[in-house]
Amino acid sequence: MFHTVQKPINLLDLDLPRLSALVSELGWPPFRAQQILRWLYQSRVRTIQRMTNLSLHERSYLESNAVIRRFQDIQSCSATDGTQKFLFRLDDGNMIESMLIPDGQRLTLCLSTQVGCTLDCTFCLTGQMGLQTNLKAHEIVDQVLSVQDTLHLEQHLTSLVFMGMGEPLANVEAVAEAITRLTNTQWGMGFSPKRITLSTAGLATRIHDVAALGVNLAISLNASTNEQRDVLMPMVNRLHPLPALLSACRAYPLRPGRRLTFEYVMLGDVNDSALDAKRLIQLLKGIHCKINLIPFNEFTSNAFRRPTDTRVNQFQSILRQGNLDVFIRKSRGREILGACGQLGVLPSPLVSIQQQHTTSIT
Ligand code: SAH
Repeated sequence: MFHTVQKPINLLDLDLPRLSALVSELGWPPFRAQQILRWLYQSRVRTIQRMTNLSLHERSYLESNAVIRRFQDIQSCSATDGTQKFLFRLDDGNMIESMLIPDGQRLTLCLSTQVGCTLDCTFCLTGQMGLQTNLKAHEIVDQVLSVQDTLHLEQHLTSLVFMGMGEPLANVEAVAEAITRLTNTQWGMGFSPKRITLSTAGLATRIHDVAALGVNLAISLNASTNEQRDVLMPMVNRLHPLPALLSACRAYPLRPGRRLTFEYVMLGDVNDSALDAKRLIQLLKGIHCKINLIPFNEFTSNAFRRPTDTRVNQFQSILRQGNLDVFIRKSRGREILGACGQLGVLPSPLVSIQQQHTTSIT
C-alpha cells in the first residue's frame, strides 16, 4: 500500500488489477479504478486535480501518495516529407524514438519497445546499440499519449505499428499490457486492434502469443534461404531457423479477413536477385499473406547498399507472377534518420516540445 512505498506511485505504472486492488484497499467504490484510468488514457490528464469526478478528499489523498509521471523531456524534428521523429527521455536517462508518419488520411505512429535491441541484425542501426533496457508498458503507451497531445484536437492517430526500436516479442509482457491499454474501449484509448501491427524479427515460439492480442502480425523475413538469414539476422536465425519460423507462421491462427505480412529488406546484390524472388515464392506457398518490400535505408558505418528502383520493381514483378500480393514500402523520414532500421542516433535539429495539457473528456 501507499505508506510502504518510498517513491510516490506513478499511476501510469498500474494495470487495472493493481489499481482495482488499491482502490479496494482504500475502501473506495470499485468503479473508481476505471474512472481513474479514463482520466489517464482518454482525457490524458497530467494532474490528479483534473480528475473532477473523484471527491476533493479522494483527489487530495491520491495526490499526497501518487503522481502521474509522463515523459518530461520531449524533442522532435520534422522531415520535408512530413514525417516527424520524436525523442523521449526515460526516467533512467535513456532516450527512445517514435516516428509519426502522415500518409493521406492516415496518420501512423511507429513505436519503440526496447532501448536498443536484443538482436543483432546486421542491416539495422538499432541492433548495433545492443539491448540497453526493456520499456515498461507505460513507456510504450506514453509515446502514443504524448504524440496525441501534440496533434490538433481534430487530428487522430489512425494506425500504430510496433516497428520502432527493439524486438516487441523480446518484451512481450509489457507490449501485451500496452496493447490492452491502447485498445480497451471502456477505459483505454480505444484503438481497434485491426489498426495495430506488431512486427517481429521472428521469435518463432512466441508468434502464437500474438494471436491472443488481436493485432496484426508482421514477420521480418529478409532472406530467401536459411544460410542467407544466418548471415543477415544471426542471433534470431540461430535461435529460430527459417524452417521453424515458417512452420510457426503456417500454424498461426489467423482471424477471418486477416493475413500475415512478411517484410523483406532489400539489400543490393545480397538478397535482391531473381533467384531470391523465386525462392520466396516457394517458401511462402500456402501462407495467407502479403509482402512489403523495404528498400534498404542506408546509414554510415554500414556496407549494405540500397538496390536501384528498377531492381526493386523487377523483384516485385517476379513475386506478383507467383501470385503474391506485394507492396513496396515508401521510405519516409530518411533525412532525419527516422526510416526503418535507422532509429538509434540523435537527429538534428531538435525542437523541444512544450508540454500541452489538452483534455477532451470531463
Ligand atoms: N524487431 C522488429 C521491429 C523493428 S524493425 C522486426 O525486426 O520486425 C522494423 C522493420 O525494419 C523490420 O522489418 C526490419 O527488417 C526493417 N529494417 C531494419 N533495418 C533496416 C534498414 N536499414 N533499412 C530498411 N529496413 C530495415
